[in-house]
Amino acid sequence: MSEPILTVQELYKAYGEIQAVRGISFQIGRGEIFGLLGPNGAGKTTTVSILTGLLAPDRGQITVDGISFQKMPKEIRAKLGLVPQDLALYPTLSARDNLLFFGRLYGLHGKRLRERVEVVLEIVQLTPRAGDAVQTFSGGMKRRLNIAVGLLHEPELLFLDEPSVGVDPQSRNAIFESVEVLNRAGLTILYTTHYMEEAQRLCHRVAIMDRGQIIALDTPAALIREWGSGLIIAGLPEEAAERLTAHLEHHPAVKAIRRRDDRLYLEASHTQGALIALLDAANRMNLPLKSLEVLEANLEAVFLHLTGKRLRD
Ligand code: ATP
Repeated sequence: MSEPILTVQELYKAYGEIQAVRGISFQIGRGEIFGLLGPNGAGKTTTVSILTGLLAPDRGQITVDGISFQKMPKEIRAKLGLVPQDLALYPTLSARDNLLFFGRLYGLHGKRLRERVEVVLEIVQLTPRAGDAVQTFSGGMKRRLNIAVGLLHEPELLFLDEPSVGVDPQSRNAIFESVEVLNRAGLTILYTTHYMEEAQRLCHRVAIMDRGQIIALDTPAALIREWGSGLIIAGLPEEAAERLTAHLEHHPAVKAIRRRDDRLYLEASHTQGALIALLDAANRMNLPLKSLEVLEANLEAVFLHLTGKRLRD
């Protein structure tokens, strides 16, 4: 990781009884695309809201470029840009007029404002539709315009909160490309998502969040190397699962084997070899397989391994 632009230490936030964020710590290096990956309700939006000053934490330290967020909010805030999940656009105004309006709110005006508007329209690939009313836009186009708003004041660190949710494939690709272009131009990005493919494609490092905590943090490749072995999930009666476990636990293609309810989770160092061994043993012992699923080594498998749950359950 390069020199940190953001440092978060022991951050906590509860809403009454609900502990939304429970002591998370991480750093983002300048120039990184850093992913917060986790299912709905993991605490991603709460975290982003705290880091952009919209919400006060119960406890915790945040520094941006080494300066305490709590002590110098105004100066620091100017370095940050937020693209929230909710859209706040004026439907009857054109894309360009929306940007001019929000740009003035950010304190931009005159030639500089007009230039920035054209630059951000280009980045999110909306220049050809800049004069059209936002109410004629698809959901994905509105989301891209939302990103453009967050970029107007040229932030150094941009928070993108689930930018691709409910977006058509064309806009999703446009969003990915914008993120990559912006990052190549030097922007640091915190990207929250519950889509592991996105985290895997875009992010240099990923913090996996579940129930308000970070349960793993590394590059996607390292996470997959450590936790994401191919996974075979077999559904079968408990007694059959016990017999299969005893038979397979020392097989060379099997790294680890766990039972949860009526499912057998077989972590494989060699997925095909483990699958053949499983089917062969079940067949020879005449064990009734009710279901069988094979997952390749990816961040979904990492999450499943660490939590026993699917990211999108
Ligand atoms: P999502 O993608 O659904 O927004 P998330 O990972 O961003 O999920 P948060 O929105 O941060 O998660 O929510 C974390 C937990 O806090 C959840 O249990 C959620 O129901 C709860 N929560 C969030 N906002 C509030 C609020 N304003 N009042 C009460 N509980 C809240």
